[in-house]
Amino acid sequence: MHYTKIDRESCIACGLCQLIAPNLYVYDENGIAYTVKDNNAGTTPISEGDFEVFKKAYTNCPTGAILRSNSPFE
Ligand code: SF4
Repeated sequence: MHYTKIDRESCIACGLCQLIAPNLYVYDENGIAYTVKDNNAGTTPISEGDFEVFKKAYTNCPTGAILRSNSPFE
């Protein structure tokens, strides 16, 4: 299983992850991203159907703010 959340202090509100993976990421009123499914807790596994777009967002985020883990974030 793979899990994701955003390091919101590193996010520069570029908009890319939501364009690439709208099922996974959304923005607050300041444009800072967070995960859709668990309000940035990082405890909801990435579904198989979302994994390709997750990888694309993860590798393209300009600041490395998209985090990944093989276990739920604390
Ligand atoms: S791609 Fe990275 S910097 Fe851009 S909005 Fe998403 S988390 Fe923030």
